[in-house]
This record gives sequence, structure tokens and C-alpha cells, in this order.
Amino acid sequence: MNTAIATINPATGETIETFEPLSSAALEQKVARAHAAFRGFRQTPVAERAKKLRRAADILDGEKEQLGQLMTLEMGKTIGSAIAEAQKCATACRYYADNAERLLAPEEVATDAGRSYVAFHPLGVVLAIMPWNFPFWQVFRFAAPALVAGNVGLLKHASNVPRCALAIEDILRRAGFPEGVFQALLTGTDVVPRLLADPRIAAATLTGSENAGRSVGAHAGKHLKKVVLELGGSDPFIVLPSADLNAAVGTAIRARIINNGQSCIAAKRFIVHESIAPEFEQRFVATMRRLRVGDPMDPSVDVGPLATPQIAAELEEQVRASVAAGALLLTGGKRLRGPGNYFPPTVLTDVQRPSPAADDELFGPVAAVFRVTDLDEAIHMANSTRFGLGASAWTRDADERERLINELDAGQVFINGMVVSDPRLPFGGVKMSGYGRELSSYGLREFVNVKTVWIA
Ligand code: NDP
Repeated sequence: MNTAIATINPATGETIETFEPLSSAALEQKVARAHAAFRGFRQTPVAERAKKLRRAADILDGEKEQLGQLMTLEMGKTIGSAIAEAQKCATACRYYADNAERLLAPEEVATDAGRSYVAFHPLGVVLAIMPWNFPFWQVFRFAAPALVAGNVGLLKHASNVPRCALAIEDILRRAGFPEGVFQALLTGTDVVPRLLADPRIAAATLTGSENAGRSVGAHAGKHLKKVVLELGGSDPFIVLPSADLNAAVGTAIRARIINNGQSCIAAKRFIVHESIAPEFEQRFVATMRRLRVGDPMDPSVDVGPLATPQIAAELEEQVRASVAAGALLLTGGKRLRGPGNYFPPTVLTDVQRPSPAADDELFGPVAAVFRVTDLDEAIHMANSTRFGLGASAWTRDADERERLINELDAGQVFINGMVVSDPRLPFGGVKMSGYGRELSSYGLREFVNVKTVWIA
């Protein structure tokens, strides 16, 4: 079902602007333009594409305040984090501008040929279906490597961030990318199967929910199109007795409330050794209670509203069902009264299985704390989820550290630190968190033809 394409302020519920979805004719025109643009763009030297990315980085840095306000207006993240997001996009553009020639350089391989090597050529038009939670970052972490490799992008952004979608298209145009190389499609999800079937579209990438992943993966599979899926997570945050408890609690708070709790790599299940659990819980709950919830445009606010009323309602229901299944509510738990999709920082303990807090992704500032008796149980508990995106583990013991690195089923394991994405490191998951990687050389090579060249 299509959601209306609109800018609705999550802090007030006010509809600021609605957009008509593209007509079939307009959509066709954009796909044709993208396809045509690829013919010329694939021939441009990497250094020239890199120069345009550098210009995009300068625009992002120069306009970070306005862009930050735009993100906050459309999806409610705190203004400081929105400005930081624009800067992070600039960093990714510069990383690929600086490294693209190296990452895309042909790899010589000695064989019985006169010369043989591996070349990395662009695939063509890539359809990017992106979510609203990091409305700039999710797009740039796809676009910077894909464009510098010579691909062309079509963005189907989430329906609640149309102004961000148009702003990104505008930035890349002003940075000098030719007409048609990156276009936003203001459209519902109903056109996605048609786009995936279109022979002019070579591949797709999706960041979003499991349901969207299953649908996009199935349609892409039917047409044998390459697809990268970055889906949900229920990341564990393990704290063992040797951990620096101060640092662990401080990071646990940040890792749970990042982006008002709406991040795929937010820590969601806090798995704490029983010997330190009472102190961890006491400090964790006290800090969660002290956080300032309010207008995300106010720089002193820690937690803004959730992006949509549906997300707030679903989160409340997940908390209710978890409590009904036996969990203990230590703080928070219900939407705040009044306008806006505000949800208070919430902590659950004694979480039972099955229940949403143990089994599903909680997309909001709700933490579930679990007590374990030893490392074996901690690892077992961490892996007892259908997701496998990130994991953070806190210990000062070298043997424990090695076991955590080896045995946690996740696309990224952070020891004594918070899971974050970094343009220099690959990002992605295992199990129901999806497949394929974004960022670093691995992300860049998802949308290239790894071409063997053999010359007698
Ligand atoms: P969705 O997966 O529905 O939305 C993400 C993007 O996918 C949007 O552009 C959306 O378009 C599009 N989409 C949705 N369904 C389909 C489909 N069947 N075929 C093609 N494209 C589709 O996420 P929601 O915003 O509804 O959030 C629901 C839950 O998903 C969250 O609570 C969270 O658990 C998870 N999620 C995870 C994210 C992550 O970073 N991994 C990001 C966002 C959500 P449209 O907006 O038009 O529906």
C-alpha cells in the first residue's frame, strides 16, 4: 500500500507540504533519462567523478545548518545530530573522492596470458530504496561509491522525507553530476516491482524493514538483478564483569537513544553479567530518566519525537505485549500526551521469551535488559535472534574478547565501543539483517562488473 508523500512535522503533527506522486509518463521519462545518462557517464574518468564528489562534500559542509533543519523538520532527529549527519555525508564523499582511483584500479594477475587483469566497471542504473531514519546518510553512503564507480542512481526515498530527497538531488546536480545521473523519484512503493522488472535498471539497494527486504529481494530475484539489503537489527550490548562500567553505561545510553532510538544499529538488548547487573541497571535507569525529551530543534534536547505516529503506536504496543509476557517496566512505557510523536526513554528488565522486546526490533528509545551468569550464556543470548547486524561487547579480558569476536553472529563486532558506520569499514549484516555490504572497498564493489580481461 502506498503512503502519502508528505512533509509532516513529527514534533507537532502539522502537515507542511504534500506531493503528487510521479505520473507514469514522468516516471518513464526519468528512467529513460537515467539510462541515457549512463552511456556518457560511464566514460568519464574516475578523477573527474571524484572532483564532483568533492564539490558535493563542500556543499554539504557549507549548508549543514539548513540541511540539518530540513532533516529535523521531516523526521524529528535532534538538530545537533542532523547537522552532524550532513557533515558525515561530506566525509563519505571525500573518502571516495580520495580513494576511488585506488579502489577502482585494475588488479594485475599473473597467468599464462600476455597480460591478464581484473577491471571494475560500472553496472548501470541502480535503484536505491531508502528509509527516513538517516535521510541523508543512507542515501550518500549508497550514492558516493556508486556514482564514483560510474553508476547512475534513481532514489525512491521514504514517503515522509520528500524534501530531503529533492535536496539531495539538487546537491548532486550543483556538484556537477550531469543531468540524469542522480534523480529522486517521488513515488509510492507500488512502482518498485515495475522498476525492478525494467531491463534499463541493472541493480537495486534497499535499507529498511524485513518486509520491504523480502519484497524487493523477491522481485529482484525474479529478474536476476543484483541487490544489496540492509534491514533491521536487534543488536546486543554485552557487559561483562571486567568492563569499565562507567564507560559502558554512558555508551549504552547513547547507543540506545541515537536518532531517538530509530537506528538499525542502535543497541537494543543489553546483556549484562549478573554480578554487575544491579549496578548497571540502577545507573542506566537513572540516566534514562534524566534525559530531556522535547522539541528536536532545541539543541539542549536529548530525545526528539519518533518519525511517525504509526511508529510510536507500534512501539507502545510492543512494550505493552512485552510487559504482558512478564517483563518489568522500570521507566517510561507510554506515548506522551499532546501533539507530536513523543515517546519517553523506557527500560524493561526480566524480559521473557517469546515477547517483542526479546524477539523483534524496537525502533524507539526502549531498552531491554537481560541478566546472564557467564560468557557462554551471554553469547548464546546475543545470538538468539533472527537478526545479525551489529554487536557491542564490553570486557577487559583478552580471552573473552577473542571469543566474542569469533562467536558473535553479526556483520560488525565492536569491543568496548559503540557500533557506528564509518566510510572506511564495511557495513552490513547476516541472517535477517540482510546481505551485501555498504561502504569501504566492499560497498564500492557491490555495484561493479568485476571484469576479467585476458590478452594473449
Ligand atoms: P520500510 O521498510 O517500510 O521503509 C523503508 C523504505 O522502503 C521506504 O522507502 C519505503 O517506502 C520502502 N518500502 C516499504 N515497503 C516496500 C516494498 N514492499 N517494496 C519496496 N519498497 C518498500 O520501513 P518503515 O519506515 O515502515 O519502518 C518500519 C520498520 O522497519 C521500523 O520500525 C524498523 O524496524 C525497520 N526499519 C529499519 C531501518 C534500517 O535502518 N535498517 C530503516 C527504517 C525502518 P515508503 O516510505 O513509500 O513506504
